[in-house]
Amino acid sequence: MTLRYDLHCHSTYSDGLLEPAEVVRRAGVRGVDVLALTDHDETSGLAEARSAARDAGVRLIDGAELSVSWRDITLHVVALGIDPDCVDLCEGLEAIRHGRAHRAQRMGEELAQAGIAGAYAGAMKFVTHERLISRTHFARYLVDAGHARDTREVFRRFLVRGKPGYVAHQWATLAQAIGWIHAAGGQAVLAHPGRYNVDGKIRELLAEFRDTGGDAIEVLSSSHTPAQYTEFARYARVFGMLASSGSDFHGPGESWADLGDMPRLPAGVTPVWKDW
Ligand code: AMP
Ligand code: MN
Ligand code: MN
Ligand code: MN
Repeated sequence: MTLRYDLHCHSTYSDGLLEPAEVVRRAGVRGVDVLALTDHDETSGLAEARSAARDAGVRLIDGAELSVSWRDITLHVVALGIDPDCVDLCEGLEAIRHGRAHRAQRMGEELAQAGIAGAYAGAMKFVTHERLISRTHFARYLVDAGHARDTREVFRRFLVRGKPGYVAHQWATLAQAIGWIHAAGGQAVLAHPGRYNVDGKIRELLAEFRDTGGDAIEVLSSSHTPAQYTEFARYARVFGMLASSGSDFHGPGESWADLGDMPRLPAGVTPVWKDW
């Protein structure tokens, strides 16, 4: 029997809409056998997920999604199979979250200058875990306040480069993020590589990710088209990296895909779970 894997999703401990236990139960109902909870820069939802996983018959992989700056863009690196108590990792994530809090205040100021007052306080009302504020919380507030119809529209009109509310930010370096993940005994996966605006330099990014110690590419992601599944499967083979798969589920009605929705990995790639 082949198992169904979903190795990328979010809970209320970052910008997801469901509690960790609800995420795990939903995954179980939807036929996921192995689930990684990968909250942005945060691992404290894993304990709650773990106790729910036993009852739901789901194997839980301890994960996180780390925010990284590479050249002038932001990358996401999914960590799989980490020890959430690893001191290096905990301190690294703490530093990234500190940067998030600071960026959020500046985002509020930028939006105020664009005529949208009170956005920081508004976004805070949508925050579900006091340690973690993301652009998603601002997006939910902007929809609620009538500035956009849905969060997708927000990410076209606000909060992105060149638009109101955008704040350039320095996250962790790639070497730091991969170092913390490896210190915690985990694997480093380049999340949704099809989403980065790298201006034809995707091969440079993949080579540098691999040479810095990166283990896998997220071949299957709800951010990818079927053509990109094929493209990144080929890159995984060419660059000698493992292949991962994840829905990047954030909540019912707000995500491109639900838990367990990804198809099987394309033939010819080595799954990131081959030694699990
Ligand atoms: P942050 O890490 O705070 O910069 O926020 C990034 C998050 O914003 C992502 O993890 C997504 O949840 C969300 N996001 C980014 N772009 C979009 C988009 N185009 N549509 C919907 N959500 C998005
Ligand atoms: Mn998110
Ligand atoms: Mn991401
Ligand atoms: Mn994600």
